[in-house]
Amino acid sequence: MFNVPQNSKNTSNVIDFRKELKDRESEIELLQDTFRLIASELNLERVFDTVAKRAIHLVHAETLLIPILDNNNETYTYRAGAGKNTDEIVGESLPLDFGVCGWVWKNKKAWWRGVLNELNETERNQWEKEAGTLILVPLQGRKHFLGGIAAINKQDGLEFTQRDLNMLTMFAGIVSIAIENALAVKELEETQSALITHKHRLERLNKQYSESNKKVEQLTLYDPLTGIPNRTLLRDRINRQLSLSSIDKAGISFLLIDINNFKSINDALGHDKGDQILIEFCNRIKKHLKPDETLGRLGSDEFILLLPKTSEEETISRANNILNEIKSAYIINNKEFNIDACIGISHYPEHGEDRETLLRHADIALNIAKERHSKFHIFNNKEDETDESQLNMAIDLNHAFEKQQFKLYYQPKIDIKTDTIISTEALGRWTHPERGVISPVIFIEALEQYNLIDKYTYEAIDTAVKNIHKWSKEGHNLKIAINISSQTLMNPDFIKHVQSRVSDFSISRRLIFEITESLFLSDHDYIFDTLTRLRSIGIELSIDDFGTGYSSLSRLKKLPVNELKIDQSFIRDMMANLDDQIIVKSIIDLAHNLGLSVVAEGVETKEILNHLNRLGCDIAQGYLIAKPMPAKEFEVFLNTYK
Ligand code: C2E
Ligand code: CA
Ligand code: CA
Repeated sequence: MFNVPQNSKNTSNVIDFRKELKDRESEIELLQDTFRLIASELNLERVFDTVAKRAIHLVHAETLLIPILDNNNETYTYRAGAGKNTDEIVGESLPLDFGVCGWVWKNKKAWWRGVLNELNETERNQWEKEAGTLILVPLQGRKHFLGGIAAINKQDGLEFTQRDLNMLTMFAGIVSIAIENALAVKELEETQSALITHKHRLERLNKQYSESNKKVEQLTLYDPLTGIPNRTLLRDRINRQLSLSSIDKAGISFLLIDINNFKSINDALGHDKGDQILIEFCNRIKKHLKPDETLGRLGSDEFILLLPKTSEEETISRANNILNEIKSAYIINNKEFNIDACIGISHYPEHGEDRETLLRHADIALNIAKERHSKFHIFNNKEDETDESQLNMAIDLNHAFEKQQFKLYYQPKIDIKTDTIISTEALGRWTHPERGVISPVIFIEALEQYNLIDKYTYEAIDTAVKNIHKWSKEGHNLKIAINISSQTLMNPDFIKHVQSRVSDFSISRRLIFEITESLFLSDHDYIFDTLTRLRSIGIELSIDDFGTGYSSLSRLKKLPVNELKIDQSFIRDMMANLDDQIIVKSIIDLAHNLGLSVVAEGVETKEILNHLNRLGCDIAQGYLIAKPMPAKEFEVFLNTYK
């Protein structure tokens, strides 16, 4: 392989030969050394670096480059280099059919100046320029063509020789396996890191998926306002609890909780504040729950509380605790508000075995609690017949208008000092042809729900006006109080309707509109205007159920009202309950200070009446004097009362 000189007699030839021998020796050493260095080296960058530095030295090139075929088999990239200008070239990728590397790849043999003789004329013309300054030997792996080693420009302006080509070819043969190994390792590492990235991506996607799943679940199963289970989830929880309880023979209590007058609270305060109250309301109940208990929302102000493994007795104490918790003041925008609720209770298995029956029975119990003005009521199996499905309610209400089933009953209010009847409250009554007497608490709420309350109220005003005429002709100059629901009062056409019915001032000043206190909580100028206009046509205004809504004094002062009606809950137990006495006394004093007269309703005993008299209360209403009665009976009462 080596070019051994033929004529060795010549001294200079001998010297040359020695030098060449020495060169050979150091070249072999370099090759061996290189091989040793990289044989066990698996780091690709280090392999390339070593190869480039050794090769440039081996062939005395100005620049050395290592082009490697890319995985796509369409391009190659200069992956490493040594010597001049390598910074500009290393990292650059070129298509395989471009440049000398492509030629080497196609022909699977080294490129050098001598190759030109083998080329046809067109190819020779194409490559001639580059050929003189470049040798490029292929790097052939065990399985694949890897790329090459290119030496560019021989140092000192010389040309590369056949020997350079041979050396570089031998060198490439030695290093190609090491390069192939290191490339394989690198590829493995890259695949591995791609795998890890992929794994992380999968994990991220999984996380995103489960988060969006949670969101979907939250939207479909939980009430968006309060975050508690909605009807759908409740159905599932109840069913699950029922099958569990049927196995361990444990009871479950169903508490149907309804906020009193929530509609008027919402109308009065606005929906935003109403929402805040609902959220706080739920949080308060949640504080009392054990892990296996569920609070869910059935409708706007209706909630169900599921208490597994609870006896009836325990349920009563739980209901009381919850009601107490609900009642304490709600602070919204630095103002205090109070709400109250009613609870209907049914118990598994006594009051039903399936979800629907138990909920229906809790609903019946709730209606009974409302009718009786009690805090809660536990269902009794006898009470089932009195309930009919609410479905027919709208039809029944319309029917009631047609058949004039709504009646007004009258309950007298007396002047306590003089014991004379000065006014009467008109209270709605409805006897359903099949269901019998239905409490006004129930049907008024239904009328509100079906937007029939305005129609009902206008009819009530018409009837009251007729009776004022009739009774005054008979010599009874009393006033008639009509309850006006907040929904009607807020109706923009309300004043117009009232004016069209009571154009005569002598009549309108005999009318009192009773409006529940919760409406006055609102800051609305609108309410203030409406009340002022009602006053301007002579109608008196009375704040009903006073003491339950906690209106602020300052607001009360501004309102154009005439009368306060102390809620019967304070009057009923007044004699036994000192707190109630104090409240009643302070309401009376407060009202008088504001120039208002005070009515106590729910007066059932002489003792209470006497006490109210001592406290300076002006007017009394209650069973002691008379229960509400039909107009005819009331007329008799008027004529016979002392
Ligand atoms: P309210 O305006 O507070 O009426 C007083 C309620 O207390 C009436 O119940 C009355 O019968 C009852 N009551 C009067 N004195 C006594 C007593 O000494 N002891 C007891 N335990 N109760 C007494 P009622 O008639 O069942 O009406 C309930 C509620 O239904 C009324 O409460 C009122 O908010 C509403 N309501 C009744 N009629 C109408 C109406 O025509 N229009 C509107 N918007 N609401 C009405
Ligand atoms: Ca009333
Ligand atoms: Ca009242």
